[in-house]
Amino acid sequence: MAENGQIRIALAGNPNCGKTTMFNNITGAKQHVGNYPGVTVEKKEGHTNFDGQELLFIDLPGTYSLTARSLDELVARNVIVNDNPDVIVNVLDASNLERNLYLAAQLLELEKPMVIALNMSDVAEDMGIKYDLKKMAEMTGATIVNTVGRTNIGTKELLEATVSVAASKKASGVTINYGDLLEGKIAELVDLLKEAGTVTYPLRWIAVKLLEKDADVIGKVMRFDNTEAVIQKAEAIREEIKNQVDLDVVFQEYRHRFAVEVY
Ligand code: GDP
Ligand code: MG
Repeated sequence: MAENGQIRIALAGNPNCGKTTMFNNITGAKQHVGNYPGVTVEKKEGHTNFDGQELLFIDLPGTYSLTARSLDELVARNVIVNDNPDVIVNVLDASNLERNLYLAAQLLELEKPMVIALNMSDVAEDMGIKYDLKKMAEMTGATIVNTVGRTNIGTKELLEATVSVAASKKASGVTINYGDLLEGKIAELVDLLKEAGTVTYPLRWIAVKLLEKDADVIGKVMRFDNTEAVIQKAEAIREEIKNQVDLDVVFQEYRHRFAVEVY
């Protein structure tokens, strides 16, 4: 929480999940639109008072993933890892959970307290889609709220959950399991990152991104002291296993598997 007691919330989600509708429901006219420094990606912030608390919402660009391959995805994840919001509110289109949970899987790796807004729950109901909220909460470690953005249903419950999760300061604690081979490699890199003792980002996320050869994360890590060994190790691991597995595909598969298991 910021020193002035304001709770800062990153609003994340796929394009067309109803994120802007939710943002408008929550913040009304109290919005400010600008650009992220140096890029033409729109930065929208808005605030509201709820239950005696000041909440600042940052509407992230809508994305399907969090790679370094698109500017929108880079901006979205950098807001989370650099600006350090207190909570991620991940808006999901409940009628399209498989695709929407693929992003959720990646947001979980950023180790922030998380609330999931199952939006478009009216559409999901009309389509006869059933999901197990209890199982979903267990598997994601997030607090889950049903919402209908178009009719402003569930907004109060979403704000209640957000304030409560922010107060707990507890990250969801869930991580995607990438299988024995990769988990072993991730653990080796996390150990080296711990030894370096300088990197201030979530270490497991960094390890995964180093294995994915994420240019932005490699650059980030190089800016910290004592990180030559871990950069070299990641490169060596990629060389060592490149004939066994296509790392990009494997990471995608496990995230997708997680998404399918969750609902
Ligand atoms: P964004 O791309 O995530 O910002 O999505 P928008 O907020 O622009 O919403 C996309 C469309 O979905 C708009 O036509 C909204 O009116 C509609 N919409 C948003 N939330 C809901 C909802 O819960 N149910 C239904 N049926 N439509 C919604
Ligand atoms: Mg939008």
